Amino acid sequence: MVTPISGHDLIADNQYNIGHICTRHQCELGRADKLAMKWIGPRGETSSHTFAQLDRESSKCARVLLDLGLVPGDVFFIFLPKVPEVYFAFLGALKAQIIVGPLFSNFGDEALLDRMSDSGARAILARKSYLKKLLRIRGQLPELKYILVTDIDEHQGDGVLSLPKLMSTAPDDFVAPLTPPETPSVLHYTSGSTGKPKGALHGHRSVLMQNRTVREVLQLRDDDLYWCTADHGWVTGVSYGIIGPWSQGVSQIHFGGAYDPRQWFELLQNEKVTAWYTAPTALRMLMREPDEFFREFDLSPLRDIFSVGEPLNPEVVLWGRRLFGKDIYDTWWQTETGAIMIASRPGREVIPACMGRPLDGIEAAIIADDGTPAPVNEQGSLCLKPGWDSMFIAYYKHEDIYRSKFKNGWYFSGDTARRDEAGNFWFMGRSDDVINTSGHLVSPFEVESALLEIEGVAESGVIAAPDPMLFEKVVAFVSMKPGCEWNEDIELKARLHVSNRVSTMATPQEFIVLGNIPKTKSGKIMRRVLKARYLGTELGDISTMDV
Ligand code: AMP
Repeated sequence: MVTPISGHDLIADNQYNIGHICTRHQCELGRADKLAMKWIGPRGETSSHTFAQLDRESSKCARVLLDLGLVPGDVFFIFLPKVPEVYFAFLGALKAQIIVGPLFSNFGDEALLDRMSDSGARAILARKSYLKKLLRIRGQLPELKYILVTDIDEHQGDGVLSLPKLMSTAPDDFVAPLTPPETPSVLHYTSGSTGKPKGALHGHRSVLMQNRTVREVLQLRDDDLYWCTADHGWVTGVSYGIIGPWSQGVSQIHFGGAYDPRQWFELLQNEKVTAWYTAPTALRMLMREPDEFFREFDLSPLRDIFSVGEPLNPEVVLWGRRLFGKDIYDTWWQTETGAIMIASRPGREVIPACMGRPLDGIEAAIIADDGTPAPVNEQGSLCLKPGWDSMFIAYYKHEDIYRSKFKNGWYFSGDTARRDEAGNFWFMGRSDDVINTSGHLVSPFEVESALLEIEGVAESGVIAAPDPMLFEKVVAFVSMKPGCEWNEDIELKARLHVSNRVSTMATPQEFIVLGNIPKTKSGKIMRRVLKARYLGTELGDISTMDV
């Protein structure tokens, strides 16, 4: 018999501290010896951690950061692959009211530099093999005092410190200070179509919504073993790979390896995973396997599968029904919303290609270009009425950009959608040029800037193009300086450069050389025109184009 857990005991004595709620509070509720995390490494190595251990390790991290002189409100980044230290440090920083920014471990120099200089980060946690990258940019980061390293035994000079050494003498009984709901907690950088990435800042209060959605949408139970495949560099890996499930005392798997169908399905089977949160690209990649592959595995403990990050194609839903006899539940949300806002869920009919409905208390609307609610079934901007618990509280140090996301009492998500007669929401696309490649938002601006650094490249314009596997792929148009020619060597260089400067996800899949990149009279790249050209569709209004 499975026992649903209620959420009424989440906040005790007005303590909203996420680090405390996910660890000490769970121990107080009787889960000290319960498994919090089974970590499985890329080569199958494992380690298991109870809530009591999570509490002690995170307390030590809190102590380490404070003893180094970091104070509440300082920014601390985590730049690691999925290893147990990510979770200890994340929860420890929050316990100490330090703002924590989780980063993708495949970020390049420029991506790191942008985020660290924008936030004025005081410390970063990394592994030894990433040191070179960090030391290359350190000179441009005067506020960065410490680089903590998980896999060196001794401190090196110049603020490069061994985390294990610091942890070995740190007391493990740190008590998180009473933390009001609006205290800043997590900082997630997200890409826009213009300018540098912006840091969406959340408050500790977000735990209320993350916890609620874990109960109401994912419907996690006390005896579940849950696996969220998302990396902590993406908001899903934090809201639903850390805060939501642990605030509810749920045992989790964290897998440090990459996508591999056999490894994934052995994990689902052997660990007896009961609830699984993943993404459409991964599901589409799995769909390439023959049906016989899936018949090898006994997935009888698996109760529910959820998806987020990109549109969930109807074919994927139908495939899930055919192979697993299950619906795959779509969930829609974004970095700024902090938690699921619109979803289908167990117990409700799933309509393939439809995202589902807003959660109770979440007011979502489709707003037409004239600012009024769009008629039923008509496409418009997907907006939310501000005020939900996990709403971002700022774009860190960019008040003007934050304010620009709110108009006439609505938060504009940047997505377009439609709502049907029954109140279901259907995703249509983005209203900006941001590229969603396998669930990761890539800024065309960042890729364009990196391409301009390649010798011989005069201009570049980067767009999203449809892709059957990745949802969207990155396509780069380039024009060359007089006397310079694009060739295979330059293309290889360009790919490597974008990967090193921005990230592997941002690396263009395709390059197209043009004589000129279309621009407005004021010099803005007309990505819309490039896209139409790529797709062979109408160019639309080109009256502002500089011809
Ligand atoms: P991020 O902030 O990186 O998590 O990206 C959020 C964006 O991913 C949303 O604004 C959407 O464009 C897209 N997205 C997230 N979930 C879904 C979904 N279920 N269906 C379609 N697009 C989604």
